[in-house]
Amino acid sequence: MLKNIIISIDGWSSCGKSTLAKQMARALGYVYIDSGAMYRAITLYFIRHQVNINDLSAVEQALNKVELSFSPNHKSGHSEIYLNGENVEYVIRDLVIAEKVSEVAAIGIVRSFAVAQQQAMGKQKGIVMDGRDIGTVVFPDAELKIFMTADMDIRVQRRYQELYEKNPNITIEEVRKNLAHRDHIDSTREISPLRQAADALVLDNSHLTMQEQLQIALNWVKERCL
Ligand code: C5P
Repeated sequence: MLKNIIISIDGWSSCGKSTLAKQMARALGYVYIDSGAMYRAITLYFIRHQVNINDLSAVEQALNKVELSFSPNHKSGHSEIYLNGENVEYVIRDLVIAEKVSEVAAIGIVRSFAVAQQQAMGKQKGIVMDGRDIGTVVFPDAELKIFMTADMDIRVQRRYQELYEKNPNITIEEVRKNLAHRDHIDSTREISPLRQAADALVLDNSHLTMQEQLQIALNWVKERCL
């Protein structure tokens, strides 16, 4: 029996972090938490309520009205995010949210709001969390830290296919611009920028199948747990 650990998966936008996190959670019987979904849900609230993100007191007041929770979808077996009781797992994947989320996630009080909840969710361990600052800030003591990367063209193609299914009007150029924009803001922001933790193991999945990437990651789990 493997002991319960914390697994962090950080990396660039659309390099398959959530796919790997879900695969690992299923294989290990762990909880999977998508930290990006929290920033996306906060962004959805701000857009719906026209919160001026340059006005910190407006941001603070809005955050006081935001309640986030995760609840399992028994069909898919994965947890989905709720914003004030509403399931927003699917709306938050829209490009409209993707275009604003990195600006929202760069605000200090937004990050402390989300990070406190993420840390509370890791108390029991047995968790896989993906994001940008999980191994560096949220769980600096995580037993296994994975930093994921993949070629830009491959990341664009993957995200394009995903978004195209919901919106056939989307163009590959829009997707490329959005990924580059988010990666730039996420890696250059002042607070908790995207960084590879010194003790993270790098997984480049540009040319790996889903099965292969899972196998590599599970071998790392074994090494860390035994
Ligand atoms: O992971 P996902 O692409 O859904 O995340 C959406 C955005 O949320 C990222 O581009 C980033 O700006 C922000 N984010 C973050 N820190 C995390 C997770 C996501 O800043 N831990």
